Amino acid sequence: MRILVAEDDAVLAEGLRCSLREAGYAVNCVRTGAEADSATASSEFDLLILDLGLPKMGGLEVLRRLRARQSRLPVLILTAMDGVNDRVRGLDLGADDYLAKPFALAELEARVRALARRGQTGSPVLRHGTLSYDTVGKVARIEGEMVELSARELALLEILLQRPGCMVSKEHLVDSVCEWGEEVSTNAIEVYIHRLRKKLDRGGVKIVTIRGLGYCLERPQTH
Ligand code: CA
Repeated sequence: MRILVAEDDAVLAEGLRCSLREAGYAVNCVRTGAEADSATASSEFDLLILDLGLPKMGGLEVLRRLRARQSRLPVLILTAMDGVNDRVRGLDLGADDYLAKPFALAELEARVRALARRGQTGSPVLRHGTLSYDTVGKVARIEGEMVELSARELALLEILLQRPGCMVSKEHLVDSVCEWGEEVSTNAIEVYIHRLRKKLDRGGVKIVTIRGLGYCLERPQTH
């Protein structure tokens, strides 16, 4: 899951970035409303965390333009403690939730999880043979036993699990796990997939390489 954080306060932005990354999300940060506007118009995100007091286009305008483009991207707005009017306007313009500053990072994470859940249909647990993956708690289990996976491995597994039996291109995997200013090559993806394979092997979960193109999570054998 990829989150865009639009926040001009460098300290707060870094705090958000660190805690969300630790929770297993890919995070991109921008500092102005204009950047948030162009980023949401040109890239795919699963959630926007939007400060309303941004330079070069306020957050409310970013939100208005986003909804005018018919985007249904979930938006969590950050407002000043006394910003009741902004909060109401934000919700009227199509924000999904808000947090008043200052807030605890734990609360922000809980709101993010709730919005992530809302964006999904049905159960947050994906199942594949002996493997289950909780998309909210970010935990993979084989026959009920937890599998230790890095944030990157979890992100890749989640994408493959969403399309069992289908080819997922390396480029798509790179886009889904990479953050700006960061080099994630298709070679790195090969390394992550290699590790993921080893860790999932005991559950009989097979990730097939489609030479030169990408990967496919083999459909589970039916007994
Ligand atoms: Ca601000």
